[in-house]
Amino acid sequence: MPSALNYLLHLPVLSLWLIFFFENVMITAMVLLSGRLLHQAPYSYPAREWGICMLTNILNTIVTYAGFWMWKNNIIHIAANISWMIITDFLILFLAMDLFMFIFHYIIHKTFLFKMVHQLHHQSVDPSPIDLFVLHPIETIAFGGLWLILLTLYPFNIYAMIIYLVINVIFGMIGHLGIEPLPGKIRSLPVIKYLGTSTFHHNHHQDVEYNFGFYTSIWDRLLKTYK
Ligand SMILES: [Zn+2]
Ligand SMILES: [Zn+2]
Repeated sequence: MPSALNYLLHLPVLSLWLIFFFENVMITAMVLLSGRLLHQAPYSYPAREWGICMLTNILNTIVTYAGFWMWKNNIIHIAANISWMIITDFLILFLAMDLFMFIFHYIIHKTFLFKMVHQLHHQSVDPSPIDLFVLHPIETIAFGGLWLILLTLYPFNIYAMIIYLVINVIFGMIGHLGIEPLPGKIRSLPVIKYLGTSTFHHNHHQDVEYNFGFYTSIWDRLLKTYK
């Protein structure tokens, strides 16, 4: 992994933009394909949703490039050793981002920012996987910005970052699946019962007064906004 990162340092800027754009498009394609496989019902999306999805991909490419630029200029430091730090760093990233995104999400719901920014995502009351990418540009940049700010605070392990990013996409996809893949028995198991399931985020789209969390329901349970 360190050699792959160092390889990127020697590539022309245009190649980097293309690699990062391709990476983001592949993530989107995987979400839409796995969503289709799990949902088992064929559905098509309106051209407008495809357009916003493409814009989100372009903005996520800018966030990816910004992260690379910050690493290249020593604003972000990355650890690359294989140790127990992979697990602890992952847990820190997972819980810190869950809290940051909860706060941001709560604010955009409770202020003028809802109409201006977040309403677009909530046009979908019965979400489907593409809704993960149907976001106002300000929202996409803000979520990316929170991630980059967190990375400047501490030299996180690169493997922990990759595991976190994969899990972030899986949670996003599951939250907008439109069906609940986990049986009720599994959802009520210890630890799992505190995770943000498909039902958890689906309920947020159905009733915007509840479930502002993403990966966990911890903050909603504390603020009594859990449903
Ligand atoms: Zn919301
Ligand atoms: Zn949503």
